Amino acid sequence: TLQGKRAIVTGSNSGIGLGVAVELAKAGAEIVLNSFTDRDEDHALAARLAAETGVPVRYIAADMSKGADCRALVEKAGGCDILVNNAGIQHVAPVEEFPVEKWDAILAINLSSAFHTTAAALPGMKAKGWGRIINIASAHGLTASPFKSAYVAAKHGVVGLTKTVALEVAGQGITCNAICPGYVLTPLVEAQIPDQMKVHDMDRETVIREVMLQRQPSRQFATTEQLGGTVVFLASAAADQITGTTLSVDGGWTAL
Ligand code: NAD
Repeated sequence: TLQGKRAIVTGSNSGIGLGVAVELAKAGAEIVLNSFTDRDEDHALAARLAAETGVPVRYIAADMSKGADCRALVEKAGGCDILVNNAGIQHVAPVEEFPVEKWDAILAINLSSAFHTTAAALPGMKAKGWGRIINIASAHGLTASPFKSAYVAAKHGVVGLTKTVALEVAGQGITCNAICPGYVLTPLVEAQIPDQMKVHDMDRETVIREVMLQRQPSRQFATTEQLGGTVVFLASAAADQITGTTLSVDGGWTAL
């Protein structure tokens, strides 16, 4: 159990981040939810998760595209034992047409934020002699697809940062690993299914199998619960000696 551990999950008001926060809460960890939105429903989400799991849950707004916000998130939380760097965005365009502001935003949110939160969280972890840094990278941290230059570059960068941090803190009770999901059924992905069904004139199952999961040999989405379970495993004592590595949850994508 993770009782007595405080976990910060960046970008956790939806999708994988929320799934990770739910599983960490079920495992007994105190939770800090985050996004940049700061709406009433974000605070209500925290209250609901606390009521459902019986652990303390706070929502702290911070914009992961800004380094100072990333560091302030860790400070306002009072430090953390488990840091899950999950916030991320995507943009798809050929490299010569890729909007510069999208490139900058993707690098900032998907890569630099993990540098800032890690730098802010490490002193507290070192003082306690225990810590877990878990970066949500992607199959695109290990392989590429056309038209995703910023995302692929950022996710490869996350894998490099993961290895470097792991080496710097090895032997101090702190591990740093990256999880590399393939396609995960988040609300964002779910919302694309009706359009794809129309465009390809296919039923739901066929469009998922033949179009969306064409590169995922299992032809099945990973779920946010499974990603949460993977984070809980990496936070457990069984994973004490797992550090500086990637764990793929991609239905065989990167085995191809
Ligand atoms: P999502 O859009 O559902 O969630 C993204 C989260 O990041 C949201 O909570 C959003 O509020 C937050 N966020 C976005 N910009 C932010 C900012 N500037 N500051 C703070 N928070 C911000 O997407 P998701 O699919 O759950 O993706 C989560 C992570 O998993 C991302 O890093 C993504 O690259 C990665 N990933 C997703 C998939 C997939 O198939 N869904 C596959 C591989 C990797």
